[in-house]
Amino acid sequence: MNPIKGNCHCGAINYELTSDPQLSFICQCRQCQRITGTGHSAEFVMPSQKANISGELKFYEMVSDNGNTVSSGFCPTCGNPILKKSSGYPGLLFFHAATLENPSLFKPQKVFWYASRQPWDYVVPGLEVKDKT
Ligand SMILES: [Zn+2]
Ligand SMILES: [Zn+2]
Repeated sequence: MNPIKGNCHCGAINYELTSDPQLSFICQCRQCQRITGTGHSAEFVMPSQKANISGELKFYEMVSDNGNTVSSGFCPTCGNPILKKSSGYPGLLFFHAATLENPSLFKPQKVFWYASRQPWDYVVPGLEVKDKT
């Protein structure tokens, strides 16, 4: 199944993953609501040395709801958010699941920031719920 591939909407950013994700999750925090423009993000975690990225991401820095500095990496051409980095988790990349060439490979395990969810946002039932990351 490796390498797993993904890309942005316009194709300027491409990536290949040389191992399986460490963790896959849904996050309902307020920042993820803003970044995705909807109720939650769907993300998987990769060590940065296991991800080969081609194309130049642009980064936007923000403070996450738990106080970490989070950089959101997006395609400067089409604006598609691709991944995030967090000061709380050095060496890790948090990819947005739907940027995968085959998003059905994404198998979420947990829900973070459930307490911040919007009343209209529903996620896959049966996931382990954590209040915060
Ligand atoms: Zn793009
Ligand atoms: Zn979040």
